[in-house]
Amino acid sequence: MREVRLIVHGGAGDIPEDVLKVFQKNLKGIWEIGNKLLEDGWDSLSVVEKVITLMEDSGVFDAGMGSFPNKEGYVEMDASIMTSDGRAGAVGGVRTVRNPIRLARLIMEETSHVMLVGEGAERFAERYNLPSFVPKESYHKFSSDTVGAVAIDKRGIISAGTSTGGTKGKLPGRVGDSPIISAGTYASFWGGVSATGLGEDIIKFGLAKKIDILLRQFPAQTAVDMVVNEGKMKGLKFGVIVLDRRGNIGVGYTTKAMAWYPR
Ligand code: ASP
Repeated sequence: MREVRLIVHGGAGDIPEDVLKVFQKNLKGIWEIGNKLLEDGWDSLSVVEKVITLMEDSGVFDAGMGSFPNKEGYVEMDASIMTSDGRAGAVGGVRTVRNPIRLARLIMEETSHVMLVGEGAERFAERYNLPSFVPKESYHKFSSDTVGAVAIDKRGIISAGTSTGGTKGKLPGRVGDSPIISAGTYASFWGGVSATGLGEDIIKFGLAKKIDILLRQFPAQTAVDMVVNEGKMKGLKFGVIVLDRRGNIGVGYTTKAMAWYPR
């Protein structure tokens, strides 16, 4: 039996101290629930889906119920999930689904595709009676951020997932890195990665896959340090959480702050 491990994040950016405290408190509570489930024998895929669902429902983060509206005032969400046994699902630009991470898992398990977007994704979700996203009258005044999780279970299977409402004031139809496998999320025999930050930077950098390749040679923290150094030199804005196949954790960011747990 493998030792289990879970790591969660609540985004990276210019997060003020008081907001970071709120994020950290929420992450800790959610991590404790997820970690207990892993210890009880839940598979990593279900734990990643569960903790991200809790973060989407919390309304505290820029994901699910807490998502930022786009430039025209409505929410469009993205999410993805992947497992070390080579399965992946993703969803882009959905407006009506409360938990995009659950939809990403359904796309992975119930279709032959990796990604569905927009109206087609919403119609697919209707078949499974997923809870609906209810638009709010007002959105947070404080900066909130994308969420993600990576877990390794007792069988040694690694899963990673990411969910977001995207960047504040984005154009309608804009999709960031979070639902892009190899950019915002990746999992393989070598480890699992969930990213956050400026999606445009992360996509062009190929962040999650870059880390996955480094994990063939280096432990999680070394791989993260390498991409963070390169990212800083290039002026990119991102943060990542990583678990390698031995259960080592790696965390790093090029931004002012990042929220993650355990820390
Ligand atoms: N990476 C997300 C996006 O660009 C935003 C974030 O992580 O805060 O959509």
